[in-house]
Amino acid sequence: MTAVLNVLRDLHRIHQQLADIRGQLERCPKLVKTAKAKVQQSEASLHAQKQQIQTLHLAAKEQELVLEERAAKIADRQARLKECASNKEYQTLKGEIQTEEEANNELSDTILLAYEAIDQQQLLASELETNVVEATQVYDTTATQISEREASLKIDLDRVETELNSTEVDLPSEFVSEYKRIVTARGADALAGVSDNCCGNCYRQITAQMMNDVLTGKLTICGSCGAILYPDD
Ligand SMILES: [Zn+2]
Repeated sequence: MTAVLNVLRDLHRIHQQLADIRGQLERCPKLVKTAKAKVQQSEASLHAQKQQIQTLHLAAKEQELVLEERAAKIADRQARLKECASNKEYQTLKGEIQTEEEANNELSDTILLAYEAIDQQQLLASELETNVVEATQVYDTTATQISEREASLKIDLDRVETELNSTEVDLPSEFVSEYKRIVTARGADALAGVSDNCCGNCYRQITAQMMNDVLTGKLTICGSCGAILYPDD
């Protein structure tokens, strides 16, 4: 009788250990995936930032082109000043030159501001580059640690599975089919210790008759949660 109860208690502990190890093994790839996602996010941010800088550069270059074209026009008009036939024509050209010079002065300021903005964006890009480097380092470390952890968990899993097989052999034959059925369906919750007349799994109270059966090592199943019961203390 005591032997049966000890086997049930051991089996419950072993199933809980197995569930714990399997849970940890399941989390391992998720941790690596999360670290990888952070690398990809930081790379995407950096890429977007570089594209934005490129757009700003192109816009500044276009403005510089306008500036140069206008400067050429001004030079052209200044050459024509000497060939003016009338004072009126001279004044008109002078006026046009002044307008274009003012426009170019304004554009020069705009271009200067645009390059200052680009410098600011470059600083941000440097920060984003650092983020990529850091995220990659975290990923590398995580991948190494997780792979070591997985290897160690697999060794634990093998050991506990072997222990399960050798313990299941000790289960009395009348328990075997129900035990297999319930374990397949419920894993570690297939067994529950009874404490203070309550099922340790669902906390429902069991009858005095059931408690008696549990204590005498009869196959007893919780009417509420369906676990095989054993005395917890
Ligand atoms: Zn129960």
